[in-house]
Amino acid sequence: MTEKSALKLKLMQDFALKGKRVLTRVDYNVPMKGGKIEDNARIRETLKTLNALVDAGAKTVLIAHLGRPKGKPDLKYTLKPAAEELARLLKKPVAFASDCVGPEADKAVAALKAGEVLLLENLRFHAEEEANDPVFAKALAKHGEVFVQDAFGALHRAHASTAGVTKYLPGAIGFLVQRELEFLDRAIGNPQRPFLAIVGGAKVSDKLAVLDKLLERVDALLIGGGMAYTFLAAQGISIGKSLLEKDQIDNAKKIIEKAYNKKVECLLPADHVAVREIRADAQTTITQAMSIPPDMIGVDIGPHAIEFFQEQIAKAKTIFWNGPMGIFEMDAFARGSVAVAEALAEATKNGATTIVGGGDSLSVLAKTGLADKMSHCSTGGGASLELLEGKVLPGLAALAS
Ligand code: AMP
Repeated sequence: MTEKSALKLKLMQDFALKGKRVLTRVDYNVPMKGGKIEDNARIRETLKTLNALVDAGAKTVLIAHLGRPKGKPDLKYTLKPAAEELARLLKKPVAFASDCVGPEADKAVAALKAGEVLLLENLRFHAEEEANDPVFAKALAKHGEVFVQDAFGALHRAHASTAGVTKYLPGAIGFLVQRELEFLDRAIGNPQRPFLAIVGGAKVSDKLAVLDKLLERVDALLIGGGMAYTFLAAQGISIGKSLLEKDQIDNAKKIIEKAYNKKVECLLPADHVAVREIRADAQTTITQAMSIPPDMIGVDIGPHAIEFFQEQIAKAKTIFWNGPMGIFEMDAFARGSVAVAEALAEATKNGATTIVGGGDSLSVLAKTGLADKMSHCSTGGGASLELLEGKVLPGLAALAS
């Protein structure tokens, strides 16, 4: 059973929005450097919803969070640059208020005319946001007559702006959340087969639950990245000084056993790029086998593994990818992740459904310029994993009740 079908959710199209104040939760938690937005993808992803609200003649009041300002105003985390970027993308002015509740916010909301857009300052300048404080939620809800939830990346948190406000306003999901649920639902519920999952990244412990759940759905599971070493260790293969989560060895064994019982192919890298020291200019060695010499560290999947992963990708009809294959932040160790991204782009071209979830896999796509070559890039890493784990996301449960 999947999230969307299990919960009865309204769509924003179900509401008459003309002239209405529409409180809209978006995910503008964008990467920033020196006050500048490094990647505007999360803002771009909301344009469909926002253009629809503008076209419908709604008065759009946007609420969002950025970073971790610890519950008090900290201009390092202001959303002002997001308002400016949104105005550029929407090709129309976007008003900004320097608080999300209180007199200034109330005044800015009252000044809105049909078809206009206002972004309120970072919700997390108030500790009450993450505490899901009812008084704060009510103050936010006062800004709208209808609530539209379009912050997929925040749905796995029960905060005032995701759960609290829904007590005071009729609510619906926006186009971005609708699209996320459709893709992740399809991957979970009724995938075209063969269904392949490729999971990488640093930690087994972070992804154990999703690996366990994926084994019930997929035909094959490829494991790469730092977490592959705990799986190799669980099979008695030497991994040198590579990343190891000793306390996860038993869990890794259980995953391998479950895969075997379910007749799911669970595949680990056949070779690796290894170094003596993790440095961008370190001398690299390609291991001759699955094992790694005692004084070396695995930092990427090797050429044989890449070739094998490419073959598996080419055979699959549905592919879900979460987590890089190596320390991709350093170009010398990014080849495996880039090769997976390229193979997925090719698979999409050949008619497969490719779904990429998780911040770091998206960074690989940004690095290679391949993001628009995937069927779907999920904007919320944590939320997409929790959905795949079969968890009910608090932000959706609140809207459905
Ligand atoms: P995650 O957030 O769990 O998807 O992990 C992403 C992180 O895993 C990235 O910062 C990578 O640098 C890191 N990573 C990938 N492969 C390795 C590896 N072989 N050793 C250490 N870290 C890795």
